[in-house]
Amino acid sequence: MLNVVIFGAPGSGKGTQSELIIKEFGLDHISTGDVLRAEIKAGSELGKIANDYITKGQLVPDELIINILAKVLDSKKDSKGVIFDGFPRTIPQAEALKKMLNERGTDVTVMINLHVDEDELINRLLERGKKSGRSDDNLETIKSRLDVYHSQTAPLAEYYIKEGKHHAVKGVGTIEEIFGFIKEKIESLRVNP
Ligand code: ADP
Repeated sequence: MLNVVIFGAPGSGKGTQSELIIKEFGLDHISTGDVLRAEIKAGSELGKIANDYITKGQLVPDELIINILAKVLDSKKDSKGVIFDGFPRTIPQAEALKKMLNERGTDVTVMINLHVDEDELINRLLERGKKSGRSDDNLETIKSRLDVYHSQTAPLAEYYIKEGKHHAVKGVGTIEEIFGFIKEKIESLRVNP
């Protein structure tokens, strides 16, 4: 399986690039943010709990998100590979992901880390907020999300460097340019995993 973790701060373009990767390589997409927003929309118990965290710009507790992920992963059993978007976001989540994939006879193939500077991130998220209607795309929540990213999520880069799976990509430029770098990396791994 070709399992890609797409990684970066909020607003770094993970969702946009995921769509292109899926089209090119025929992977399945797991976005924990999308899963949570669907639960909120459906008004489920899980959605209600998640909503409290999301509107404050905080992370949903690891245990909850890991359980969700295990279920979603089981629904993708016959997949050629999965792109993980918005997961893992903490070290315990990365460890849980490794365990889950290992139990299914596979592992993360590569982690693509999209680099975008802070001012650009804030601009993009504010711009998105005008159309998305997302409760977390406002300046106050964006700032909390960026703080959470720096304190809890960014340390994952180290984790994947140690695993020998980290690949940095400049996340500023045209969507096609950025995708070009990602595509090149994934293709090189398919030839030489
Ligand atoms: P973004 O990358 O723009 O922050 P996402 O759609 O990935 O957007 O996530 C939105 C929110 O959903 C996060 O701020 C967080 O509250 C929650 N969330 C998503 N994925 C996770 C996760 N893996 N662990 C904890 N919380 C999560």
